[in-house]
Amino acid sequence: MENSGVVRKLLRGALRRCPWCGGRGAFFVGWYKKADHCQTCGLGWRRDDVGYELGAAAITAIITFGPLILVLGGMVAVTWPDVEVGLMFAVLGVLAVVLPLLSYGSAYLIWQALDLTMRPPTREDFAPVGGSGQSSD
Ligand SMILES: [Zn+2]
Repeated sequence: MENSGVVRKLLRGALRRCPWCGGRGAFFVGWYKKADHCQTCGLGWRRDDVGYELGAAAITAIITFGPLILVLGGMVAVTWPDVEVGLMFAVLGVLAVVLPLLSYGSAYLIWQALDLTMRPPTREDFAPVGGSGQSSD
């Protein structure tokens, strides 16, 4: 399969598609429930590196903290000099819980898109398509 550009892979990941093949809902059978392999091309969810999820956690932090900082700055700017701290904590607290829940999956696939760009997949990264999707771990 052709190795598409990093922007295309990132967009596919942000839309919860397989960054490699673009398969829709490729890794997900529900919002939080995932298959071990892409259901379209067979690419594995993990690429057998210790700490692989740390990259996804970093992407989640960026996706979450970025909007939080923007909202914080916006609320301070709009309400200055009488900053409403209680309202600000309530809004930021809700966002701090909701944003990671909503970005689950996309954050991982964005990380996978970056990883696939830095380390193109090998034959061993793919499982036969149409298999059981069960891990051999
Ligand atoms: Zn795929």
